[in-house]
Amino acid sequence: MDPSYNSTHRALLQAFFAHTTLPTAHLPALLSSIHTAADPDRPTLPADITQPDIDASIASVNAAIAPFDYEIRCVHHQSSMSRADSEATYVIVNCTSDPSTQLATRFNADEVKFVRRVLDLMFDKMNFEGREVCAVRPSEALRVAKVRDSVGGTQIETLNGEGVGGGVASSLKLDQAERVLEELKQEGWLELSEAGFLSLSVRALAELGRWLVEVYNDPEAEEDEWQRIKTCEGCKQIVTIVSFHCERREQQQTTPCYDTG
Ligand SMILES: [Zn+2]
Repeated sequence: MDPSYNSTHRALLQAFFAHTTLPTAHLPALLSSIHTAADPDRPTLPADITQPDIDASIASVNAAIAPFDYEIRCVHHQSSMSRADSEATYVIVNCTSDPSTQLATRFNADEVKFVRRVLDLMFDKMNFEGREVCAVRPSEALRVAKVRDSVGGTQIETLNGEGVGGGVASSLKLDQAERVLEELKQEGWLELSEAGFLSLSVRALAELGRWLVEVYNDPEAEEDEWQRIKTCEGCKQIVTIVSFHCERREQQQTTPCYDTG
């Protein structure tokens, strides 16, 4: 264990476990109160906390939690142009996250399977070359609440066939499915856009990014081949809004090519 890891780092980690996401703007006040509590004779003011202080504290916590597969990541909302530290959100993620492990504590097995079907709808069935949206209307999501058996109609399978085999057994009633979607919104997993589309939040993309790539992308594909889950070339974050470019990507695109000849 890093000898500099102390009670202030533990307090910061506890704050992350309590809130999951913390915007950069909240960290100076948080860190100053943690430092002041640790050393009341020498109060620290929010203005005393600089970005390098934040980076150093997060790095120490990350070194301590890495063996447990946790990491605090600095991410930006994909629809924000800025990739500045001051506009970032810090999210604590379980690096081995998949929807089952993330949701199993709050939802029952049939509800988790419903969420998985909504993700399949978002990233597979309704996300194809020429229609890259990665978002669904709530009414479309509710349509996969019910899994019809193979006699009654089309069997809805998850992409790798995982877990849906129970047919009608894993169907949800409409009000139960509505409650699941509502809780996912309240807990910051799903966002509802003004145009009425549900998409994954910045937190969900940070938590599930690696899993999304594993499940929905073709590992055999060529580098320039179309893939369901895309990563921004500028900031390396997963992007589900294809036509939108962050400032780093914009800078890359406007950088003139050098003629080295
Ligand atoms: Zn970007």
